[in-house]
Amino acid sequence: MESPPILYISRRVRFCAAHTLHNPSLSPEENRRTFGVCSNPHGHNYVLEVTVRGTVPPRTGMVLDLKVLKEILEERVVSLLDHRDLNRDVECLAGVIPTAENVAIKIWDLVEPALEGSQLYRVRLLESDENLVDYYGPAGRPDPRGRED
Ligand SMILES: [Zn+2]
Repeated sequence: MESPPILYISRRVRFCAAHTLHNPSLSPEENRRTFGVCSNPHGHNYVLEVTVRGTVPPRTGMVLDLKVLKEILEERVVSLLDHRDLNRDVECLAGVIPTAENVAIKIWDLVEPALEGSQLYRVRLLESDENLVDYYGPAGRPDPRGRED
């Protein structure tokens, strides 16, 4: 029997936050060399795209109600990070350098438990039009040929 089609649906949300890229175990000179101007406090208008993967149940025709995903992202991510200093104000980021990479990992950890049965596929975080990071979860990116099942 043919397996049911798998689709990927995404919700985009935005938030603004400040950060300073700084490693306390490095000297001021090493921090400047490693992080450049990003070692100064500055902000980003972040764009977050969260993608959920699944089949389409005949009863609803939806992988997941995007309204539900929107609410999860507002409650678990935007309310926590919007208009915050990611170095100081966000408990779950304490002790990590708040790069887009580390923030994406934390966003995965915040969103994934709330999805209840739906499979989180990707967290994509854009710091700017030019810079973005993709995170496919702790197991890494699934095999594109679908053998991850
Ligand atoms: Zn930055």
